[in-house]
Amino acid sequence: MAGRWSRRGLLLVLSSPSGAGKTAISRRLLERDPGITMSVSVTTRPMRTGEVDGHDYHFIDRARFDAMVAAGELLEHAVVHGNCYGTPRAVVEAALAQGRDVLFDIDWQGTQQLAEKARDELVSVFVLPPSRAELERRLRSRAQDSDAVVERRLAAAPAEMSHWSEYEYVLVNDDLEGSVAAVETIVAAERRRRARQRGLAEFVKSLQTGGG
Ligand code: 5GP
Repeated sequence: MAGRWSRRGLLLVLSSPSGAGKTAISRRLLERDPGITMSVSVTTRPMRTGEVDGHDYHFIDRARFDAMVAAGELLEHAVVHGNCYGTPRAVVEAALAQGRDVLFDIDWQGTQQLAEKARDELVSVFVLPPSRAELERRLRSRAQDSDAVVERRLAAAPAEMSHWSEYEYVLVNDDLEGSVAAVETIVAAERRRRARQRGLAEFVKSLQTGGG
């Protein structure tokens, strides 16, 4: 499509309770689709072993977080599991201006805020675990988290999952490859929405007149 006409970038949101596997889906998607930019959030939560500052999150303290909120530097922000999280505005706006799509791993509160600001650009996907037992197994196997953190996230899962019906697409993540393929299919279809393709009328005109 590139070169023929430009396309308005889309905001692709993946939400799920902790442990449903959306981070793994996001990683695979980014590896496979160079047209997608990941939105790296800021957070006040402690870094987990294996996480990289600036890659998984920008790890910042509460004072810096509050300053970013006050300066309007966050597109959305929320408290999740007792920590502050937010999406830096500048990176998202730069990516969209270049016609790139942006992927967000954010919760339902952030999704609602994006919907208020950019309804037309938003594509929202809710990821469910295949079963309660599997959700628990995945959370417990994430060795970096303490038992208290795991318990807290498990306890929060029912409330998080209650927001499933606010999303346009819902998928059950029982197999990573299948889920990645499903999200790719959603992205492929959403990119072809007529309203997202700028200059389409001119292109068709050139086809009609033989000038293209
Ligand atoms: P974790 O601490 O496990 O990385 O993330 C906890 C939850 O916070 C996840 O549901 C994740 O999607 C959400 N989250 C991460 N970054 C953001 C953000 O920038 N904004 C919002 N609203 N939620 C976020």
